[in-house]
Amino acid sequence: MSATQPTPARAARPRPQRGEGQWAKGYFTPLNGNEQVKKDDDGLNVRARIENIYAYGGFDSIDGSDLRGRFRWWGLYTQRRPGIDGGKTGILEPHELDDEYFMLRVRIDGGRLTLEQLRAIAEVSEKYARGTADVTDRQNIQLHWVRVEDVPAIWKTLEGVGLSTAEACGDTPRVILGSPVAGISADEVLDASPAIDEIQRRFIGSKEFSNLPRKFKTAISGLQDVVHEINDISFVGVVHPELGPGFDLWVGGGLSTNPHFAKRLGTFVTLAEVPEVWAGVCGIFRDYGYRRLRSRARLKFLVADWGAEKFREVLETEYLKRALPDGPAPEAAPAYDRDHIGVHPQKDGNHYVGFAPRVGRLDGATLAKIADLAEAAGSDRVRTTAEQKLIILDVAADRVDELVANLEALDLQVRPSVFRRSTMACTGIEFCKLAIVETKNRASTLIDELERRLPDFDQPLTINVNGCPNSCARIQVADIGLKGQLVIDEHGEQVEGYQVHLGGHLGAQTKPADETADAQDGAFGRKVRGLKVTAAALPDYVERLVRRF
Ligand code: SF4
Repeated sequence: MSATQPTPARAARPRPQRGEGQWAKGYFTPLNGNEQVKKDDDGLNVRARIENIYAYGGFDSIDGSDLRGRFRWWGLYTQRRPGIDGGKTGILEPHELDDEYFMLRVRIDGGRLTLEQLRAIAEVSEKYARGTADVTDRQNIQLHWVRVEDVPAIWKTLEGVGLSTAEACGDTPRVILGSPVAGISADEVLDASPAIDEIQRRFIGSKEFSNLPRKFKTAISGLQDVVHEINDISFVGVVHPELGPGFDLWVGGGLSTNPHFAKRLGTFVTLAEVPEVWAGVCGIFRDYGYRRLRSRARLKFLVADWGAEKFREVLETEYLKRALPDGPAPEAAPAYDRDHIGVHPQKDGNHYVGFAPRVGRLDGATLAKIADLAEAAGSDRVRTTAEQKLIILDVAADRVDELVANLEALDLQVRPSVFRRSTMACTGIEFCKLAIVETKNRASTLIDELERRLPDFDQPLTINVNGCPNSCARIQVADIGLKGQLVIDEHGEQVEGYQVHLGGHLGAQTKPADETADAQDGAFGRKVRGLKVTAAALPDYVERLVRRF
């Protein structure tokens, strides 16, 4: 027997089971630094310290585990220190990347804003955030350059009009995506807004779910317009043949570096049951979710290990204490028109007007002007979409043309090119500490170039630009997904560039719905091995692709 072969005794010895940190299995001892921070003190408790200590003491008074941990529970991240290039990402210590300013994320559940709320965000942007305001692909608005000294005053302004930053980041239930045309669309199965309101009222900011293994993303819609395929939990509008309108339940979707489409559980959930079922799934995640490794802590890994059948059984037996009825799958629907761009009739005879800023980038002054234009058009309601777009609701037919002209005068296009309409970009190196490359400005330049070079192109085409592999801008489900990384140019120099993913999409393409398939006909883009493009060559490369599209 050679020295390298195991002895029979050693080979037969069972390997010790390593716990994944699941609370339901008794693993309450924190297995990493993030879990320790959450155990030491609930993230929501940092608010009192911000209001009573840090707002007076300034940046240098902030405790390290609050700064890089619990601040997120109130929507605050340190932003990247200006001037640190992408080559330093992941090499420098976190504190070397930290600027003393913050990104502040305002959660806008269901993307719903009154004009008073929009004006409050505009005011905060102008007064405290150097005029910044980005609409994200999760219907939030993000502000930058925020000082901790100003955070209490910002909360006072936002909360005074019913807005919140609670659990906008952190290991929590994040903003709830909802159809921006809920209640007015002639096509929706039902209006999901009451369920969103009830979850928000009962569970957001509650310590019942303020210590999850990682973030928990929700989408609830009577239409298929809020990326239900890639959320941790989604309720998708369907009509049950006997029980009427309600929802089909999907769990375990998510992108990042290890993408999974959500799985259907095959259950039917009524509107009234949504909050209870949502709490059951969130409870499974809290109790059974993996807490050892951050990279395996999203719900998608548990769902992948258990499968839909076991997940449904645990939900029904341990959490709901009753069986849910079986239900139908949603009708297959294309993903192309989910952004609601353009002028569309509402079921009450009014119109809604969807328009496209550039890659979600706005500013406080423009938000205030949008509020003024909406008011002049007789509206009190604005919506954000999951595609970095905005919509003004309730416009009478005889006011549409004037509103469209006024929006376009602000470069907020109601009839944008395909490239303006369907290009998204994440925050990127301008503010994000994880970024390797620039995104927003580069995507904006790309739009200009493609509009100039291909003025007549009118096929649906999505281009998503990310600053790193984390996929905040959903690279794997775009026709052209661009993942930021450093690449070698033709002179042998290391420069900013992108790994190319091709052919991804959400929703149905050409085939009918298949009730057994995950995400129906969605597909992740193929990473084209070795296909990387420098930032400088990006417009030429995309033009070549589009001409062959
Ligand atoms: Fe930052 Fe990366 Fe997310 Fe872009 S994809 S916002 S660079 S973490």
